[in-house]
Amino acid sequence: MVVLEIEDSEKRCSRCKQHKPRAAFASNKSIRDGLQSYCRECAAAYHQQRQVAKGRNVRPRVGVPEGHKCCRTCGEIKPHSEWTRNRSASDGLATLCKSCKAIKGRAGHLKRHYGLTEADRDEMVASQMGLCVICLKAPAVHVDHCHKTGRVRGVLCFNCNSAIGKLGDDPDAVRRAAAYLEGNAWKPTLVAPGVYQLPS
Ligand SMILES: [Zn+2]
Ligand SMILES: [Zn+2]
Ligand SMILES: [Zn+2]
Repeated sequence: MVVLEIEDSEKRCSRCKQHKPRAAFASNKSIRDGLQSYCRECAAAYHQQRQVAKGRNVRPRVGVPEGHKCCRTCGEIKPHSEWTRNRSASDGLATLCKSCKAIKGRAGHLKRHYGLTEADRDEMVASQMGLCVICLKAPAVHVDHCHKTGRVRGVLCFNCNSAIGKLGDDPDAVRRAAAYLEGNAWKPTLVAPGVYQLPS
């Protein structure tokens, strides 16, 4: 008999016809082997089907383990530690998971600080072939803007952005830095005895 080949730690689900470990079935004392005839998955699917038939729309809970929640934005199932608390929500957790919240926060930051949408930023990065326009090596990741006018100048890598910042965002200083690297260090020009001309 086929049944003998199956370990008695397993049971055949009468709905999906699969042999599954006993743990895959909920207990039911009124049945001889103490387990429900449908496996947990089938029982949940059956319950869901019944609810839909009754005109109730119940979100399927199948696949979301205890202590986890499914993020409707990214669709990922994550442990409760990946969610911020929200007392007014029925489950006490925020709607978005922490990483989706962070992404949304960054999008808001982009808009508030630079008046850019993520699409604008992506378009800008694409127009630079994804590269930092100063070193032409590292990926463009930092939206750089003029602190005086607020105008967005381009997208740089973190190093180049901090480099121009350290040179005071001053084109003349950057030009002198370039000349210096080429061996032409700036020297004061003597315009009159004892009077040197400094760059304006
Ligand atoms: Zn089943
Ligand atoms: Zn998410
Ligand atoms: Zn760079």
